[in-house]
Amino acid sequence: MNRRDLLRLAAAAALPLPWRKAVALAPPRLQADPFALGVASGPSAGGVVLWTRVAPGLEATLERLSHLPFEDYLAARRRLEAQSEPIEVRWELAADDGFRRIVRRGTAVAAPELAHSVHVELAGLQPGRWYFYRFVLGDAVSPVGRTRPQPTAAERVRFALASCQHYEYGHFGAYEAMRADDPELVLFVGDYIYEGGPRERRYRPHPFPTARTLADYRLRHALYRLDPALQRMHAHCPWVLTWDDHEVSNDYAGDVGEDPTIDGAARRAAAYQAYYEHMPLPAAALVERFSHVRVYRRIDAGALASFFVLDDRQYRDRQACQPPGRGGSNVVEDDACPERRDAARTLLGAEQLRWLRGELPASRARFNFLVQQTLFSQVARANGARRFWNDGWDGYPAERARVCELLARTRNAVVLGGDVHTTYVCDVKADFDDPASAVIATEFCGTSITSPTSFSAEAIARLAAANPHVRFADGTRRGYLLADLTPQALQVRLRVADDVTQPLPQVTTAAQWSVHDGRAGAQPD
Ligand code: FE
Ligand code: CA
Repeated sequence: MNRRDLLRLAAAAALPLPWRKAVALAPPRLQADPFALGVASGPSAGGVVLWTRVAPGLEATLERLSHLPFEDYLAARRRLEAQSEPIEVRWELAADDGFRRIVRRGTAVAAPELAHSVHVELAGLQPGRWYFYRFVLGDAVSPVGRTRPQPTAAERVRFALASCQHYEYGHFGAYEAMRADDPELVLFVGDYIYEGGPRERRYRPHPFPTARTLADYRLRHALYRLDPALQRMHAHCPWVLTWDDHEVSNDYAGDVGEDPTIDGAARRAAAYQAYYEHMPLPAAALVERFSHVRVYRRIDAGALASFFVLDDRQYRDRQACQPPGRGGSNVVEDDACPERRDAARTLLGAEQLRWLRGELPASRARFNFLVQQTLFSQVARANGARRFWNDGWDGYPAERARVCELLARTRNAVVLGGDVHTTYVCDVKADFDDPASAVIATEFCGTSITSPTSFSAEAIARLAAANPHVRFADGTRRGYLLADLTPQALQVRLRVADDVTQPLPQVTTAAQWSVHDGRAGAQPD
C-alpha cells in the first residue's frame, strides 16, 4: 500500500459518526512509518528551515495510550519519553520533485531531547525559486515537501491566513481547498493546538487529559499533525507561524494562566519546547532554552511585502481587573476598570515594541503586514454599559495606541489576526472613539479552521453596528483568508467551508475586499 492510499484510508476511517460512537475511534492509523508526522518548511533569516520529526510507531502509541486508564497512561507516557537514542537522518533538496537534480544533501541528528525533531537550516539558495525536499531513514522516505526562499523581486504573491484549529470540533479539510488555491505562503496566527482535555459533545473527540507537561504537549502536537489535510498543506509551501494562548493554556498572559496556582513558567516552557519541536522554526528562536522562545520576527518578500510577525502572549501584562486569585480574561465595564487604560500596561513587552518601532515605519516594502494573534481594532459592546473583552487589544488600549502611531507612519499597513473565530474586516482608526478620525490601516482578522464562536450571528451583527469602523463581520462560518498581493492592491477573499465535520468540505468565497496602494481602509469588491 503506498502512502497516498494510507492517507486516503486514514481520511475514510475518520468519517462522521455520532459523538458517542466516535469516542471509541482511534486517531488516524498508519503503519509504523518514521515520517508519519510529515514534513514542513518555513523561512529563516538566510533561506529556509526544513522540518520533520522522526516518530516511528507514534500512531500506534497514540492509539494504545487512548485506551489506557489514566494512571497507566501516565506510566506509558513516561516510558515514551525515555526513548533516548539519537537518530541520524538524511535530507535532500532538489530542483525537481523526482529528485533527479539534487541541489543539496546532508545529514542531521534527530535528538531525543527535542523529541527527535529535525530542523535543517539552508542558506544561499536562490530567492523565489521553488525547491523540493525529503528525508530518508533506512529505506523509509518521507513525503516530499515543496519550499522556497522568499522572493526578492516578486510582482505578485498569494498567501493564506489561518488560525484556530480545534481537533475536537472537526476535520482540517479546509486545508485541502487551501492547497487547491495554491498559496505560496501560509500565515498561521495561533491556536495550532488546543490544550484542553476531552469533553462531551464534540465532533472529533480525543481521550487525552489537559496538557500540562512536555510529554502531554508532544502528544497533542503529534495528534494534530496526523491530520492528513494539515500535513499535506505543510508540505505544499512554507508556513510562517506565531502562537496564541492555546498552544499553552486558555488566555494565559506572560506566565500566568487562568488558574495562577497551577499555570506557571514550567508549564509554559514545556509547551514552548513542544511547539518548537513541531514547527519549522529557525534555531534563532531559541534565545533562552525554552523559558523564552522568540517567535516575533520580520520576513521580507522583496519590495512587495514585509511581514512583521508579533507575539502578544509571552511578554504581556496580566489582563486588567481580574477577580481576586484568578487569571485569564473577562468582559470588563469601561467605567469600572480604569486599570485597562493604564498607559504603563504592555501587550508586546518593551523589547518587542522597541524592535517594532525600529523596523515598521522604516520599512520600504510596498505593503507591510502585522501578523499577530488577535483582533486589533476596538470592538466596544454597547448594549447597556460600554464594555470590552480584556484579552485582546481592547484590554491594552494604550499599547494599541502606541502601535497605531507606528501604523500611521507605515506604508500600506495591514493588520492580520485570528483568535476570535470570526472574520472581521476593519478600518483601523487613529482614534477609534472619534468617527471623524483618519483611517490609518486596514485589518483582516480571519475566522477559524474548525473552532466555533460562542456568539450568535445576531450578536456579531450588533457588535458590528455599534462599531462603524467594522466593515464586515461573520462568525458563522469556518475557513481561511486567501490574499493576492500586487504593487497596486491587496485582494482578500474569505474562503468558507460548508461543514467541517466532513473530512472534505465544500469551500466557497463568501466575501471579497481590497486595499488599494496608497489608500488605507477596506474596499468591497
Ligand atoms: Fe482559538
Ligand atoms: Ca486564542
